[in-house]
Amino acid sequence: MKYVLTAWISLLVQLSLFAQTALLLRPDRVFDGEAVHEGWGVLVRGERIAAVGPMGSLSAAGAEVIELKGTTLLPGLIEGHSHLLLHPYNETPWDDQVLKEARSLRTARATIHARKTLLAGFTTVRDLGTEGAEYDDVGLKQAIDQGIIPGPRMVVATRALIATGSYAPKGFSTDIEVPQGAEEADGHDRLIQAVRRQIGKGADVVKVYADYRWGLMGEAKPTYTLDELKLIVETAASSGRPVIAHAATAEGMRRAILAGCRTLEHGDAGTPEIFSLMKQHGTALCPTLAATDAISQYRGWKKGSEPEPERVQTKRRTFQQALAAGVTICAGGDVGVFAHGDNARELEMMVQYGMKPLDVLRSATSVNADVFGLPDRGRLRPGLLADLLAVDGRPEQTIADVRRVRLVVKGGKVYKD
Ligand SMILES: [Zn+2]
Repeated sequence: MKYVLTAWISLLVQLSLFAQTALLLRPDRVFDGEAVHEGWGVLVRGERIAAVGPMGSLSAAGAEVIELKGTTLLPGLIEGHSHLLLHPYNETPWDDQVLKEARSLRTARATIHARKTLLAGFTTVRDLGTEGAEYDDVGLKQAIDQGIIPGPRMVVATRALIATGSYAPKGFSTDIEVPQGAEEADGHDRLIQAVRRQIGKGADVVKVYADYRWGLMGEAKPTYTLDELKLIVETAASSGRPVIAHAATAEGMRRAILAGCRTLEHGDAGTPEIFSLMKQHGTALCPTLAATDAISQYRGWKKGSEPEPERVQTKRRTFQQALAAGVTICAGGDVGVFAHGDNARELEMMVQYGMKPLDVLRSATSVNADVFGLPDRGRLRPGLLADLLAVDGRPEQTIADVRRVRLVVKGGKVYKD
């Protein structure tokens, strides 16, 4: 008995020492989520940040020192709009992924997507819909959190809500019921039930399609009424969850803003009036510039040798209008439309379309954390989660340097060295 007890105590001591493993990270500089500090470093203890400051102020006693000469240390990046259960549409069209790929196949791929995302330095993703794969994002998130597979922390939306008849796949015989990429629900009772069911099964956010391409000419048009959107927001808010809206038309955006949605995704056809309404209501924009860029190329645009298609020109113009109106800009590329692990593509495009690299880094860290309600990450501060990224170079000057990943740490654990 005494031996067993001693063994237990010794095990517990070892476990607590393991949990308290300290890392001293010595880069050239630190971007703390808001500003750049030359000569700073970070001390990690267990899964949290213990100290951040000038290197001389950090005690190396008992800590494993990781020399990161030539690097900038950043908070782990936050992807604002991903679909880990999708893969690029030039590999397999979206319709075929939804209708022809088994959910087991999609999940197998998603585990690889999760690893690539983490190793690219994105330690959190807001995953906005399984696109026909039911609640499989919930299990994927659990597999990551339980340490079964490497991947980012996930904020999940599960199935997302669509107005009956508005979404896709479409264009099939009227005689058959075609599975849809999200959950159809309308009207008072069915909407309340759908929101609560998705939350009950694990949704951290509720996603709604405020518009979609169901106009007479196949163009994007609003779907839900303002009252339906308000009901969705009110129902989700009881549980403390935000609603985020796919909204590409001006009217769809207007309804989503007035209903109280937290972020608008895409925002392609926003106008100066709509963006000033967003500013007034504190609604953030997740512009998904890289998705438009990727889809235009899948449709045949030879980028670099041909003029920009109208859709890309519109995207650039409306993004600049949103910036001019002072709208809060999240960083989220709709990755899945393009390759997982290539998340930096959105950050590069934000710079190409007119944002300063430092502001883009803020969007991908502290701004995303604030807008998504994640106060435990997005900054390098004592007490926050030790989610960190070291890259060669100076990404606050040259944004592409975020691709030069030297080290990724999630919850104090080193994933790439
Ligand atoms: Zn999306």
